[in-house]
Amino acid sequence: MLNPGPPPEEDQSTMHSKLTLPVLRNELEPAGSEAPTNSCGIRAATAARIANAFTIDVEDYYHVSALAPAIPRDTWKDRESRVSASTERLLSLLDEHHVKGTFFVLGWVADHVPQLIKRIAALGHEIACHGYSHELIYRQSPEVFAEETRRAKTLLEDLTGLPVVGYRAASFSITPRSSWALDTLIELGFTYDSSIFPVRHDRYGMPGAARAPGLVQAPSGRQIVEFPMSTAQMGPLRVPVSGGGYFRLLPYWFTRRGLRSINEREGKPFTFYLHPWEIDADQPRVEVSWLSRFRHYTNLSECEPRLRRLLSEFRFTTMRKVLRGQGLLSG
Ligand SMILES: [Zn+2]
Repeated sequence: MLNPGPPPEEDQSTMHSKLTLPVLRNELEPAGSEAPTNSCGIRAATAARIANAFTIDVEDYYHVSALAPAIPRDTWKDRESRVSASTERLLSLLDEHHVKGTFFVLGWVADHVPQLIKRIAALGHEIACHGYSHELIYRQSPEVFAEETRRAKTLLEDLTGLPVVGYRAASFSITPRSSWALDTLIELGFTYDSSIFPVRHDRYGMPGAARAPGLVQAPSGRQIVEFPMSTAQMGPLRVPVSGGGYFRLLPYWFTRRGLRSINEREGKPFTFYLHPWEIDADQPRVEVSWLSRFRHYTNLSECEPRLRRLLSEFRFTTMRKVLRGQGLLSG
């Protein structure tokens, strides 16, 4: 159904000539260590200069799909909004590390705390679209999906005065049965999507999809740029290492190792994602299944210190800039 086109290859000789090894060694390698050369000939320090996409899905704890059984949609408006405080903490962290990121904003949040979205944009971060209602795409009709996505895009563009060209689905819900959504995104004027998770999961996933950014073909035959959620290839296994629950649940060294392998062994950028509620250890607890509680509440207090470390160990910028750097986007 999806035929990912081959991503453009980096010119490694150009990459090497552009870079200043001693600086990189100071930043990223222990004193006295040599930058290793791997089997592909990509030096670790050279790869460490690859800019990766730092992304935040801007939503409140009560928008999360896994908690939906315990939080009826019509109670959202009566709940305490915690998204602004947590997002402000993330903005401060990014500022400390001189990083600009891409914020995939839920339309519902933009409607309720518009000043937050204006502030994110004013700080120079990219505003992208996370839909309006956080309904899983494969539970929507194409008509409803088109209507709500147009509504969210227009709202965000009106708030910021800037075009919104990137999209990420609620819970990565562009799967083989909802790939028609890619056509809708093209029709609405999006130039890139970041919703495909090339793994097997109970709520999302497209296990055979490409792992690196590239063009994907929508059912109509038209193409759109896709930045899939990042996975590391560890032996025969594809391991999700792109952030969120995986970042909180697994030890930091595991994520770091996976992300470094994408930069260093493959010479590719990765995308990292997080939600504001993932650094909010005091959020109200909701009675849901054991599995959902485990995924949602584990290591919330660990997340911010880990994030600090991640921001100091890898290079990040907006998703749009990374895709431009890869030659996949022109605007
Ligand atoms: Zn979401």
